[in-house]
Amino acid sequence: MPIGQIVKAISGFYYVRTDDGKLFKCRARGVFKFEKKKLTPLVGDLVEMEQTGLDEGVVTSVQPRTSELIRPPIANTDQAVVVCSLRQPRYQQMPLDRFLVHGEREGLKIVIVLTKKDLIRDEEEIEQIRAVYEPANYPVLATSIKTQEGIGELKQCLKGKVSVFAGQSGVGKSSLLNQLLPDRVLETGKVSAKIGRGRHTTRQVELLPLAEGGQVADTPGFSQLQFKGMKPDELGQCFPEIHVRSSDCRFRGCLHINEPDCAVKDALEQGAIAGSRYQHYKHFLTEIKEAMVRR
Ligand code: GDP
Ligand code: ZN
Repeated sequence: MPIGQIVKAISGFYYVRTDDGKLFKCRARGVFKFEKKKLTPLVGDLVEMEQTGLDEGVVTSVQPRTSELIRPPIANTDQAVVVCSLRQPRYQQMPLDRFLVHGEREGLKIVIVLTKKDLIRDEEEIEQIRAVYEPANYPVLATSIKTQEGIGELKQCLKGKVSVFAGQSGVGKSSLLNQLLPDRVLETGKVSAKIGRGRHTTRQVELLPLAEGGQVADTPGFSQLQFKGMKPDELGQCFPEIHVRSSDCRFRGCLHINEPDCAVKDALEQGAIAGSRYQHYKHFLTEIKEAMVRR
């Protein structure tokens, strides 16, 4: 039975691309189960299919997933490209850190992309941002669609992986995707005259193949930005530079606030964790605790 990947799902049909590049329009057969839970096939799923016509088939089984995003609904995503502009809108670390927590929570590899590099004069600013994220081991790329700086580097980062872009509105996600997928005109900024459609029309998510190999979701991810259902002691795991040190804290379940012999506080004092990152950790922790009281 041929194995393929669902690259698009529209009203009950799954579009499966097989290893040899053919696209089949498929229905799903019966109910799929995984670990006793009912499972609806998702874009990104690796599936087995039976061919029933020239370009038609039936999905007969779904392989276990390595990850599962809800918004956008994609299985087996490897990487989150978290996008933040340097200007217009100005660089804001808090929303960036919020997106990073969500990416970590989904178990994704992270790449930070700083856009609109053409709008800054001093590269020192980028170096300062890099220094903040170095302890977390996050690569930080700086790009410009005007000068093409960093676009080649970004392509290298995406090679061979399934990536989803995330970031606040207006930071330049669609513009970057247009650079990566020149054949496809995505809507940027305003209403697209070509398709005559507003920005807020819901669209189907599709995984698009990159020229260098790998795929990218054509729509931005993680729009839901409350830390729903997160427990206070899970937050530290979503800050890699905090997580690596927490095993050296005296108390198991240390939240790194006022506990004695806290390895995270020590690292902070030594400058091995950026103060701004720790501040945002504390801010999110308060949010999570407040949400728990309300629940
Ligand atoms: P999205 O909401 O994140 O998808 O952002 P868009 O891609 O729609 O971009 C928002 C605005 O920023 C548009 O007017 C783009 O032309 C502009 N923009 C995007 N990338 C760059 C860049 O590298 N440099 C400059 N100067 N403007 C950019
Ligand atoms: Zn601690």
